[in-house]
Amino acid sequence: MEFLQQKVIEDGVVIDGSILKVDSFLNHQIDAQLMNEIGKNLFETYKDKNITKILTIEASGIAPAIMAALHFNVPCLFAKKAQPSTLTEEIYSTEIHSYTKNKTNHVIISKKFLNEDDRVLIIDDFLANGEAALGLYSLVKQAGASCQGVGIVIEKSFQKGRQRLINEGLNVTSLCRIASLDNNQVTLVGE
Ligand code: 5GP
Repeated sequence: MEFLQQKVIEDGVVIDGSILKVDSFLNHQIDAQLMNEIGKNLFETYKDKNITKILTIEASGIAPAIMAALHFNVPCLFAKKAQPSTLTEEIYSTEIHSYTKNKTNHVIISKKFLNEDDRVLIIDDFLANGEAALGLYSLVKQAGASCQGVGIVIEKSFQKGRQRLINEGLNVTSLCRIASLDNNQVTLVGE
């Protein structure tokens, strides 16, 4: 995804040598065309896996996840960080520590939207230490469903997330991989 890499280099803003701010196209204002390309790319990678559901976490995972869901023609389910009063049915839940907010969220999904017949593709905007993806994988396992892969828009490869997911036996597909944010400069893997 050359266009995504170009966007990351041109429009990404590095904070404290470890956080990449991409609020002009992914985390606040959203580039719909780019999200569509991301969805299409993940579809091409996982189209033979009989995916029945896309799973992400609110809020920033939803944009790429819903575009992927459109290409797979399956529902997009997102884990919620708080249990709304309208959600009274049984739930699967887990704890996810947020890397950027330094806060642990209790996240939930309704049991009625995930079951043992589901073949899930997990999607998120970033992969850092793998907390979000592993938390989503825990929800998949609680439901008895299978995880066919993890699709990530931007992976910070200098953090341990990818290795932790691989250690769990998961397939990881990252569309843009960052080797370093040292000196507040983006260096992509392979550069
Ligand atoms: P992990 O759970 O893998 O440690 O971190 C991934 C989650 O933290 C993503 O859901 C994302 O929202 C957030 N995150 C981690 N690193 C960054 C970053 O550099 N920039 C932004 N915008 N979000 C990040």
